[in-house]
Amino acid sequence: MGLVQKVEKQVKETIKKYKICNKKDKILVALSGGKDSTLTAYLLKKFGYNISGLHINLGLGKYSEECEKTIKGFSEEYKIKLYVYNIKKEMGSRMCYIRSGVQSREKVNNCLVCGVIKKSILNKEARRLKFDKIATGHNLDDEAQTFLLNIFKASPKLSANSGPITRNAPNKKFVPRIKPLFYVLENDIRGYVKKKNLKIYPHACPCGINSYRIQIRNFLEKVSGKDKERIMKNFDKLYERILKTKDSRMSYCEICGEPSRNKICKKCKLLKIK
Ligand code: AMP
Ligand code: ZN
Repeated sequence: MGLVQKVEKQVKETIKKYKICNKKDKILVALSGGKDSTLTAYLLKKFGYNISGLHINLGLGKYSEECEKTIKGFSEEYKIKLYVYNIKKEMGSRMCYIRSGVQSREKVNNCLVCGVIKKSILNKEARRLKFDKIATGHNLDDEAQTFLLNIFKASPKLSANSGPITRNAPNKKFVPRIKPLFYVLENDIRGYVKKKNLKIYPHACPCGINSYRIQIRNFLEKVSGKDKERIMKNFDKLYERILKTKDSRMSYCEICGEPSRNKICKKCKLLKIK
């Protein structure tokens, strides 16, 4: 089987096995401009799903401008409706300012702050625009890193928040997130995108400094694709058991009213909103 058929088969099987979406769902694809989310949108569209895209412009200078330009070009070419959320316009500051405010109080890495804020925006926008699901471009390498990271932190329970679809109890303010590329190797994504000549912005985020994850990523670079797939087979075997340890109910943040598993949501905690 060729690469294109292999990747398409893996994505179709993930969608079917985990029932992550159906043709009636309105799906909002979180489009960064990078290869993973671009391929997610390309394949969901190719398979006949009802998708639109949302790009968050983080205000990181040239990098953000190029990401937005690239994703606009891709969306036009494939006739995907694209929403753009500009952090500077909507929240009043660029991501670097928001982040340095947090880091002046707490020792947290760049990606954590950005990730929490992006997730919060995605959920709010998807809900406002009445989407049923949010799709992200997380791939097998990302998930293997997260799984190992949680094991190294002696917190495998944290992997309860992983999986091809979020498994929280239904909550009217929470839009479920899906990961169609959950079982696709990063290398195969690279190969597919190249073969189909999809428009992507191939540079990493200039702020992507997360030393622990980088150590794990470097370690996994020495590991074969087959071994990474085996790591995720372990995840599959443990996932249902890990899920049983998690309280899947969500309530609402006492400050902002957004869905949260704790009294105060991660975003309000980080931003110290009172
Ligand atoms: P990251 O957290 O950067 O590894 O990205 C994980 C996923 O989040 C990507 O595959 C995208 O689906 C989504 N994402 C990341 N950055 C953005 C962005 N600026 N705008 C929209 N979605 C994004
Ligand atoms: Zn909150």
